[in-house]
Amino acid sequence: MSLYDIDQIKQRNPIEEIISRYGIVLLRSGTRMAGRCPFHKDQNPSLVVYPETRSFYCFGCGASGDVIDFVRRFDGLGFRAALERLNDGASPDSGPGDDRLAKRDQAPKQPRTLSLDDRMILTAASAVYSELLWRTPAALAYLEGRGIGEAVIRRCHLGYCDGHSLSQYLQRRRLSLRRAREMGLLWRDGGERMTGRVVVPEMRGDQCVWMVGRPLDDAHDPKYRGLSLPKPLLGYERVRGRQRVFVTEGTFDYLTGVGWSLSICALQGIKVQAQRLAFLERARRVFLVFDNDERGREAVVFLTGLLGDRVRVIELPPGVKDLNDLGQLPDGRATFFELVRMAESQQPKEEVRHAVPAR
Ligand SMILES: [Zn+2]
Repeated sequence: MSLYDIDQIKQRNPIEEIISRYGIVLLRSGTRMAGRCPFHKDQNPSLVVYPETRSFYCFGCGASGDVIDFVRRFDGLGFRAALERLNDGASPDSGPGDDRLAKRDQAPKQPRTLSLDDRMILTAASAVYSELLWRTPAALAYLEGRGIGEAVIRRCHLGYCDGHSLSQYLQRRRLSLRRAREMGLLWRDGGERMTGRVVVPEMRGDQCVWMVGRPLDDAHDPKYRGLSLPKPLLGYERVRGRQRVFVTEGTFDYLTGVGWSLSICALQGIKVQAQRLAFLERARRVFLVFDNDERGREAVVFLTGLLGDRVRVIELPPGVKDLNDLGQLPDGRATFFELVRMAESQQPKEEVRHAVPAR
């Protein structure tokens, strides 16, 4: 820890600047600045920032501290991780500037946490794609065909990549094309990796931290293309701290669930490590809605083992592939809530036995 010069980090990261970069609008009044607090539902600007003492205090919820405390709290990080984030991922004893130039030709590495600049790039990309979706009738028609309407498009900030708007935009905003490439937004030749795809971002507040793209037909491989960053849970903020949580498999299953206002998240596949389920700690009831196939049933058995008798399994009707498939049926929504009601009244023991595929 002594490797970090904390005072220097605070000086290099003016608190008002960092808080603004998290998307909070601060307005000056005298020597202080005020904005809406991100740590409680703030209708008034209760968050006061004191640039002179490099500190903040919320008159609504009492949150307070310095720039490191702010980053820790906002991103849910430990002290050291917050320092690293502010230090922009550079090793603590290396200087700024020159070091980055020297690294330019090295192979892209995958940082474990995103720097503020990374988040700005991803958020810019998501904003550009979101804008483009509304101008692309084919992409809107594709979503409509899968039962994803305007409300979900807005709520989930869905987008579309036309293949040429992003690099121009990043250049105009002087954001790093190199980082955009390393994170998997651009190809080496500057082309856009999500070209021709509907894009589903994963948001933290107003910021994008990840995205996955799906082409408008099935001719392209892979069907789902993510970034070159660790794949997160999709919909984390919809389920965090909730008592009733729905867990599903794929991106469009998730979107269908959002359309039904469920507190739902998608594992984006079936392989999941136990530690990634920590967000379910507080959930009293976990509904599993997995694909109606062998892999989906195996995932259900595995997750039931991890999560215990809080689990209720929602079994899709015969012939229905997955939740998104159900959502496209005229009575899909009604059927789903009937299945939830039935699952709720089941006894956990029987359910586990039921979920194990017969061999
Ligand atoms: Zn507050």
